Amino acid sequence: MKVYLQSLGCKLNQSELESLACQFVQAGHTVVDTVREADLCVLNTCAVTHTAAGKSRQAIRRLRRANSDARLAVTGCYAQMWPQEIRDLGNVDLVVGNEGKEQLVERVEKEWGLKGQGSGRAWGLSPASRFPIPQARTRAFVKIQDGCDNHCTYCIVRVARGRQRSRPRRDILAEVEARVAVGYQEVVLTGVHIGAYGRDSGRQGDGSLWGLVEAILMRTHVRRLRLSSIEPWDLDLDCLRLWEDSRLCRHLHLPLQSGCDATLQRMGRSYTAGRFAAWVEAAREAISDVAITTDVLVGFPGESEAEFNESLRFVKAMGFARTHVFKYSARPGTPAATMPDQVPPPVKKARSRAMMEAGRHSAQAFRRAFLGRTLEVLWEGQRKGSESEHKALWSGLTDNYLRVRTQEGRDLSNTITRTRLIALGGDGMWGEVC
Ligand code: SF4
Repeated sequence: MKVYLQSLGCKLNQSELESLACQFVQAGHTVVDTVREADLCVLNTCAVTHTAAGKSRQAIRRLRRANSDARLAVTGCYAQMWPQEIRDLGNVDLVVGNEGKEQLVERVEKEWGLKGQGSGRAWGLSPASRFPIPQARTRAFVKIQDGCDNHCTYCIVRVARGRQRSRPRRDILAEVEARVAVGYQEVVLTGVHIGAYGRDSGRQGDGSLWGLVEAILMRTHVRRLRLSSIEPWDLDLDCLRLWEDSRLCRHLHLPLQSGCDATLQRMGRSYTAGRFAAWVEAAREAISDVAITTDVLVGFPGESEAEFNESLRFVKAMGFARTHVFKYSARPGTPAATMPDQVPPPVKKARSRAMMEAGRHSAQAFRRAFLGRTLEVLWEGQRKGSESEHKALWSGLTDNYLRVRTQEGRDLSNTITRTRLIALGGDGMWGEVC
């Protein structure tokens, strides 16, 4: 059977899609690059915001239009939370929530009698296998845990993903080594709340996230290791010594959500803006050139003009390398959805614009500080149709999350090169390979 896979939303969804692709291939099926070739399309949906749920519905319709003969299976957070809405669209063959995602291959085979020719091992990437999603061969997203035990009042993800569960350490080490063996240069550890890794089994020290990071650095041949989003309170200050190993990317994505203490309290976030600033300062002191990126939510219920301005001032002062701004959207079933003083959409829109402008400004200042410096870039690929005078336009990332582009005649794909950063451009920088 030919399978087309698509993922929306976060890096965790992406890592699960990669895992599903491996399972399909190992069960003897073929993963294809276009919808038109497929006998089965699988969509991994997102429901984190109202917009994300809308995009999930759009993607279902688009897949259906692109290939009306293929079977369509929908999974992910939107499928977990609102399966009936998906069924009501009327053109989906199978809806499977997050709980059934790991058994999706078996379910598909059983449901439609479409047996492949392989073993179907769950996490098994045999070192000899080529990873089946071509566009994802430079950075591998490896899931280390699922679920979250916190109670942020706006968050649907913890409802959609359930309680915190850690993946066994030996499985993660094996997957990292397998991904490295098939050519991945960078591994990104993903999950819903990665800082809680190991806590469900009461493990601390060696069994914690930091013990896992240390074990990956010591026992695998990973060339670059990156953490995806980590809650600021999980940034245990002892762990900062791990960045003495230059393979650990100098990049921390610490979701702030708001720079105003009163808003943070209503959000159920257990820190103040001052604590957040202290964590960032400690990280900057310990890790030179570290990129601190963040998420900010605007228009949370009860956010007054004064609260918003406090948050905006804080964001401007923090000098984030990148700021993802989200307009609050009420998710049914969360405490914030029924809070009083919901902010009107036009106000949210204006605040979002102002916050994004502040984010763009500090991102540009962060990039400017690297002009003339030489950093290592992992080249991900070239832009389609970008060739001029036998040179293609390549795009890649430094370990501290600077997007770099260059014109180059050589094949740079999936290589790491020392690159001089020579100019600012768009959302990144221009570089010259040394
Ligand atoms: S830490 Fe908060 S925002 Fe993050 S997944 Fe858990 S409940 Fe949601």
